[in-house]
Amino acid sequence: MTSAPLQAIRGTRDIWGTEIRLWQYLEQHARDILGRANYQEIRTPLFEATELFQRGIGEGTDIVSKEMYTFTDRGERSLTLRPEGTAGVVRSLIEHKRLSQGVQRCWYQGAMFRYERPQAGRQRQFHQLGVEVFGSEDPRVDVEVMAVALEFLQALGIPNLTLELNSVGDPADRQRYKAALVEYLTPYAADLDPDSQVRLTKNPLRILDSKDPATQAILRTAPLLPQYLGKAAQQHFEQVQEGLQALGLAYELNPRLVRGLDYYTRTAFEITTQDLGAQSAVGGGGRYDHLVEELGGTATPAVGWAMGLERLVVLLQKQGEPPAPELDIYVVSQGAGTATLSLQISQMLRGHGLRVEMDVSQSSLGKQIKRADKLGSKACVIVGETEVTTGQIPVKWLATGVQEIVTFPNGFRDATFWQKNFR
Ligand code: AMP
Repeated sequence: MTSAPLQAIRGTRDIWGTEIRLWQYLEQHARDILGRANYQEIRTPLFEATELFQRGIGEGTDIVSKEMYTFTDRGERSLTLRPEGTAGVVRSLIEHKRLSQGVQRCWYQGAMFRYERPQAGRQRQFHQLGVEVFGSEDPRVDVEVMAVALEFLQALGIPNLTLELNSVGDPADRQRYKAALVEYLTPYAADLDPDSQVRLTKNPLRILDSKDPATQAILRTAPLLPQYLGKAAQQHFEQVQEGLQALGLAYELNPRLVRGLDYYTRTAFEITTQDLGAQSAVGGGGRYDHLVEELGGTATPAVGWAMGLERLVVLLQKQGEPPAPELDIYVVSQGAGTATLSLQISQMLRGHGLRVEMDVSQSSLGKQIKRADKLGSKACVIVGETEVTTGQIPVKWLATGVQEIVTFPNGFRDATFWQKNFR
């Protein structure tokens, strides 16, 4: 009986070949730019207690109500593959008592899991890069995290980005707004799209995200969140805008911007582009001053963002493939005693910081040298039986065909010679 060929699970994908170089480039930039802002990397587990996400993201959200990969392990614990990064980071900082140690700036990167309908720019396993800053209510921190996000995207050379900004107020402001929105929408309930009808009782703010034209039309004259901000939230919002202006960072106010998660307070923002089609959000974030308390820690203000790396990779691909790293040396060998010598030579050359591949095909020398050419190697070290006895090893420069002799082992130990020729 033949079984169906094994395949990657729907909504997941392999990353390899030229694409992997874009990921490495992204990751390198993240490390450089976030490191320069003195953010510390944190790696938290891929799975956590389900309760963490239920409490941290909110029962009324799409993520918790229908998108989590939740399972019971062999010890009868309910566990969930992390659908986002913030809850785990908060859990970790509370657990390790880091929140009483002054302002904490963290960044993370890694796979997240959501049971969503896979489509372009939307997967079930995807990757996010995120930052979180804990321990300050200062609006300058909101500005800093947005500035760092934009700096990262600019360093990657991604054009046509828009920073959309809103304030979702303090919880009491949001309560008043929610009531006003529900009061406004209730007479139109029957005309709303089915999702929005459900949200009217469960999570009315999310109706503002609806793409349905009929719902959109109804929303056009709906009350707007910024009109409901209390004095403190209003002042914070103004200071954030002044900070962005002082840095010369352009932004657009979007009074309908609410984020998918329940825990946001005050600043909410999204970075969007027209270059991605329907999934226009590159990343988003905001302030979440009550999440730490919600998860059992002492009240600690916080602000952060997350970006989808798959979407950044798509944007980078539009700018062309990155150059492949060049192979410096291909070591070919044939005949008695050459196997060990080629192993030793390859090892020594890698020790000089060169990129080296050893041929193990056992085909003819001619074929092996052809392979060196095909791989675009700069040079080829040729190890034959005679060379094992004489220790006089030919190195052929493939671009010119010029050959020179290097003595084993001393010539191969001479870092200056090799580095001069290859760097
Ligand atoms: P969120 O945590 O929902 O605010 O998402 C932050 C960013 O992660 C979004 O702006 C997207 O770039 C990315 N993202 C979220 N969900 C997915 C997904 N299912 N597939 C790919 N990227 C995603």
